[in-house]
Amino acid sequence: MNNPIASYSTTRELISAHDLRVKKNLGQNFLIDQFVLEKICAAADVSANELVVEIGPGLGALTQALLARSGHVIAVEIDPQLARLLESTLSGHQNLTVMNADAMTCDWQEIARAHGYTSFKVVANLPYYITTPLIMSLLEGSAPVRSVTVMIQREVADRILAKPSSRDYGALTLGVAYRASARLVANVPRNCFIPRPGVDSAVVHLDVFQPPPVQTADERLLFGVIKAAFAQRRKTLVNCIFNMEGPALSKEAIGSILTGCGLDKNIRGEALSLEEFARLASALASAVGN
Ligand code: SAM
Repeated sequence: MNNPIASYSTTRELISAHDLRVKKNLGQNFLIDQFVLEKICAAADVSANELVVEIGPGLGALTQALLARSGHVIAVEIDPQLARLLESTLSGHQNLTVMNADAMTCDWQEIARAHGYTSFKVVANLPYYITTPLIMSLLEGSAPVRSVTVMIQREVADRILAKPSSRDYGALTLGVAYRASARLVANVPRNCFIPRPGVDSAVVHLDVFQPPPVQTADERLLFGVIKAAFAQRRKTLVNCIFNMEGPALSKEAIGSILTGCGLDKNIRGEALSLEEFARLASALASAVGN
């Protein structure tokens, strides 16, 4: 297909010509805005020798633009009807592989290797019902992901980009910040999609770090402390750490570890930066002999 798929008329035509019933439960909101599409592609900055993994290609709006810019595109679509349609609308592109699969269960490392690549970039207009677990599985797993450029709900973008002590700052902010530097590419209004989603969207770009930007003696303990701190965010950090499973320390001992890290004894977790959490986790690890 030569017409841009990301337009109101082509999207409508494809839906009616193939008698598609748009599946809300699969987060099917198709992008119809060329300007937003260009912004996503510019942020992803893929080149002719790179592999791109696109999650949820749908009708192919983004796929079409990515094919023109990258070495190879692997488009993973859960809906068999859309996967078949994509193969026919974008047939003729030697650098496209359409996989009818659930992105949550893919072995990305194996997929990249099978196509002769050692690393890849992820670009997607994500189905909103799996945004957070999908981003975290891409960042936490062993797959050689270089960057992730994704359209997500505005509310999740706000949580990823939040600053300490703000309402949106939390375990997701820190989980992402440990693995990638995040930036906002664009806010995207609802009228850029067919059908219109019930929420506003945003595009974020995550540049994956290798290694993490902070050092800690015990990564599991670091994320255990972060989880405990935000599970009861109105409580002081001393109480949160005291109540967590793991380091069996008295409140007094935890208080002195905090002051030893240059933190107030009555501080709440929401005020700590990633670096401060990392320092604290290392101090706790050495206090309990890890
Ligand atoms: N990329 C297209 C666009 O921008 O117009 C469609 C984006 S739409 C928001 C999300 C797409 O993800 C849908 O095509 C949907 O069928 C697909 N999808 C939903 N869950 C999925 C999953 N677990 N794995 C792969 N694709 C999925």
